[in-house]
Amino acid sequence: MNDHFADRMHDVPRSFIREILKVTLEPDIISFAGGLPNRAFFPIEPLRIAADKVFREKGGDCLQYSNSEGLVELRGYIARRYKQSQGITVAPEQILITNGSQQALDLLAKVLLNDGESVVMEEPGYLGAIQALSLYRPRFAPVAVHREGMDCAQLAEVVERNKPRLMYTVPNFQNPSGITYDADNRRAVAEIISQREVVLVEDDPYGDLRFSGSAVPSFYHLLPEQTVLLGSFSKTVVPGFRLGWIVAPVELHEKLLIAKQAADLHTCNFTQYVLLQFLTDNDLDHHIAAIVGAYGRQCRAMVAAIDRMFPAGVTCTRPDGGMFLWGTLPEGLRAMDLFERAVTRRVVFVPGEPFYTRPVSSATFRLNFSCVDEPVIEEGIGRLAEALKEMIEG
Ligand code: PMP
Repeated sequence: MNDHFADRMHDVPRSFIREILKVTLEPDIISFAGGLPNRAFFPIEPLRIAADKVFREKGGDCLQYSNSEGLVELRGYIARRYKQSQGITVAPEQILITNGSQQALDLLAKVLLNDGESVVMEEPGYLGAIQALSLYRPRFAPVAVHREGMDCAQLAEVVERNKPRLMYTVPNFQNPSGITYDADNRRAVAEIISQREVVLVEDDPYGDLRFSGSAVPSFYHLLPEQTVLLGSFSKTVVPGFRLGWIVAPVELHEKLLIAKQAADLHTCNFTQYVLLQFLTDNDLDHHIAAIVGAYGRQCRAMVAAIDRMFPAGVTCTRPDGGMFLWGTLPEGLRAMDLFERAVTRRVVFVPGEPFYTRPVSSATFRLNFSCVDEPVIEEGIGRLAEALKEMIEG
């Protein structure tokens, strides 16, 4: 079959994380490799009650084909929530419900990108975005992300030289680094972008998961005409429903709607009704507070264990929210080597390579803290520290 595949499939990497996840299924492994929300917070019983109600009250309506935009009441809920929690004005007509925000990335690339056009991508960046966009054969223009946000000098240069069509960012508690762009950095990025014909994609699945510090104005707030905002219920309710959304200017919304129709007609009608019922009968902020409380404790436990046990020279980010932190090894060491030593000690994480758009031999790695309890974090970081010492001491 090898001659039969379309050209666009040639450059798309297989998900390295899926390979790692196979190892994590072994019972004695401590895994900091996952990217999953903690299932202890799935609101199973409230969702069951909501589902019963929807079956009883909506009957055929929730099982019939529906419109491509998504349930109007759900879009209204999302618009109201933006207003209440961030002071952002969004019309429900600007919102398209998607099959998770992952589909939003596919639809945006389909609508906006021609082969070979330039895309600014955070480095390191979300590997699901790298994979989704790769299918449309862009030229990636990576721009480094530092502790305060995007490297603006590099961004200005890349924008000038490459004339990008699209720019992809996760400004809150980024996957994979846990970094949040600060307010000055966002203003500087918005200023650079405002002078160009670039669509800025602000992917924000983690924004509600802040456990320290205070909220920073979104790109959508700073640059509404050029920003496309992506949201998701995956990290705040459940990922299995596959419910996310795109907020886009009306002209772009129209095109995205055509792409959505062509892709799958509409997002699952039943899960939209169930989610809407859940949101109507329950306090989402109360639910999110429980998740944030746990993730905050877990992150603090991980940072404290790292500070206590990792050898000097290994640095880590200190996230204010989200699910990940990002480590960097001393000069000359490779995270893949650490990974191999770590597996023999029955602890795993994700080496940095898949988060880059170009081949690198990376000294960086991602640690997930959302799915691991504090005592297990302590044990796992201890095992990693031993692997690190062994590697550094040769
Ligand atoms: N964007 C980012 C930055 C993510 O981390 C994820 C999930 N890991 C997604 C998008 C996809 O989320 P969804 O479940 O909404 O498709």
